[in-house]
Amino acid sequence: MKNPRVPLAGVIGWPISHSKSPRIHGYWLAQHDIAGHYVPLGIEPADFEEMIQQLPKLGFVGANVTIPHKETALELAAEVTPRAKMIGAANTLEFLPDGGFRADNTDGIGFINNLRQNAPDWDAGKGPALVLGAGGAGRAVLWSLLDAGVPKILLANRTRGRAEALADEFGPKISVLGWDDISEATREAALVVNTTSLGMRDQPPLDITLNCAAGALVTDLVYVPMTTDLLQQAQDKGLQTVDGLGMLLHQAVPGFEAWFGVRPQVTETLREVVLK
Ligand code: NAP
Repeated sequence: MKNPRVPLAGVIGWPISHSKSPRIHGYWLAQHDIAGHYVPLGIEPADFEEMIQQLPKLGFVGANVTIPHKETALELAAEVTPRAKMIGAANTLEFLPDGGFRADNTDGIGFINNLRQNAPDWDAGKGPALVLGAGGAGRAVLWSLLDAGVPKILLANRTRGRAEALADEFGPKISVLGWDDISEATREAALVVNTTSLGMRDQPPLDITLNCAAGALVTDLVYVPMTTDLLQQAQDKGLQTVDGLGMLLHQAVPGFEAWFGVRPQVTETLREVVLK
């Protein structure tokens, strides 16, 4: 018998009202004329384990998870993809036919696919990457750059010990440098990535002077504002830039494809829909 349920997916977080994911998936569902729904699910940490078991019974085929559930989801998963394991957090879940769920993390692939779409000339083998920040997003970016074949990563974080811990975990291609040395380090970077929250609206600015060679690419995970001071400085110096909104859109692609069976596109219209 055909499955009598309408396929559902959603984003689980606490709080959840700020999430842009319902707009992204809602746009793709309508575009592809799919009879499914994607909803925001505000679930408190104490209820997460019980609720995640109930969702498939309601027709949920999968879900995104965001703060504060990203690590718990990984611990409760029946299957974990290698990249989610390496990144240490889940953001995309797929319910399995025999119960339980598979946990994946698509932030890193979203980061790389955003660069590939918006800076097609950038090649991972071109030279070292300078990565600023060693939080959750920093982990995803490190995984993706190593997976893409970057020869060397210079990693700086305000709290140096966190960067050193990541270098131990991710291996010898990572070299840790001091937070005061980031401007100097841009000289040898083919790619500069801000994964800290600095430069975000209501946060302090990122204090850096870009000394990059011509042809270097600068990207920021912060997308509020869309053109951060870092990206503005890069543009003023004639460097190529990619903003952070595309990463948010690209990280959503694998989940939508797994749940609804269509690989969606990241387009200018989608950007406009999400920014509205
Ligand atoms: P997180 O785990 O809390 O890490 C925050 C990072 O920012 C740490 O490296 C932290 O350094 C650094 N930081 C915070 N305040 C600082 C300050 N005053 N000076 C220097 N460094 C500071 O957060 P996250 O999840 O990695 O997210 C980081 C940013 O990326 C956020 O703005 C988030 O919105 C954005 N993001 C964007 C996307 C996207 O799709 N575009 C995806 C994920 C995240 P310490 O270790 O020293 O505290």
